[in-house]
Amino acid sequence: QGKEIPYDPETLRRIRDHPCFSEKACHKSGRAHLAVAPKCNIQCNYCVRDFDCVNESRPGVASEVLSPEQGLARVREILDKFPYVKVIGIAGPGEPLANPETLETMRLIHENHPHLILCISTNGLLLPDVIDELIRYDAYNLTVTLNAVDPEIGAQIYSHVTYKGKKYVGVEGAKLLLEQQLKGIQMAVERKMIVKINTVYIPGINDEHIPEIAKVVGAMGVFNFNIIPLIPQYKFADITPPTPAMKRAMHDRCAPYVKQMKHCQRCRADAVGKLGQDVQSSLSSPCAGEKE
Ligand code: SF4
Ligand code: SF4
Repeated sequence: QGKEIPYDPETLRRIRDHPCFSEKACHKSGRAHLAVAPKCNIQCNYCVRDFDCVNESRPGVASEVLSPEQGLARVREILDKFPYVKVIGIAGPGEPLANPETLETMRLIHENHPHLILCISTNGLLLPDVIDELIRYDAYNLTVTLNAVDPEIGAQIYSHVTYKGKKYVGVEGAKLLLEQQLKGIQMAVERKMIVKINTVYIPGINDEHIPEIAKVVGAMGVFNFNIIPLIPQYKFADITPPTPAMKRAMHDRCAPYVKQMKHCQRCRADAVGKLGQDVQSSLSSPCAGEKE
């Protein structure tokens, strides 16, 4: 199952206290997502942008977007009310790294609450470009959504990719995205980040390819692998999603290559609490009074 990595005590803490990296942590430790990142730099064919980024979150009512300062205030409130929250993550509602507010939020939290575990979820396009800033803020828990390691398959999943102001489509766009993803994952492993790969299971598009993805990332030294069943919408609205039995069978096919995460809850981009026991509705709304 991937490469054996000797973990230092701090890395072990970031694994053991994070409910998405350690199933045992689910019962004692919570996570909070701060929805500070509305924009996205790619278009996945399964995403309707009125909702949260479905690479990490389940679609629902779009999360209320917070400014970095509002995010910090929310962290204070969360720690006050729910002291078992040990992880602060940014997972949307768009692509975290496409929004400068994400890094500013991380900086504020790191300076004010250095004991918290910082976590980020990304499509990987900008990962090599900003990875050292993540390290500066001790954000060592990383999720990259990787749906293909073959640009021909990627081209069926992504409509376009926008990088440094230029829009790329088809195989060219998928190839650029893949190069950045693999480079970013490699850099993350070298920096001792704890890397989770999310792969959306899209029957008829990447299903036969998923074990190959697991093989590639397992050999690179990622920590675990999370298979997310497609939620059929937008260009993939007519695809029937995989059944739980198909998902279990896919985990079995991928398990020889990399540790499998099987307890993902498809949280919202503003989820707070223990996995499956969200409490965000009991927090105050920082935007109350600002709406028309
Ligand atoms: Fe949607 Fe997330 Fe894909 Fe962007 S990366 S298009 S927000 S699913
Ligand atoms: Fe963890 Fe899955 Fe929720 Fe992300 S969506 S915080 S991986 S349980």
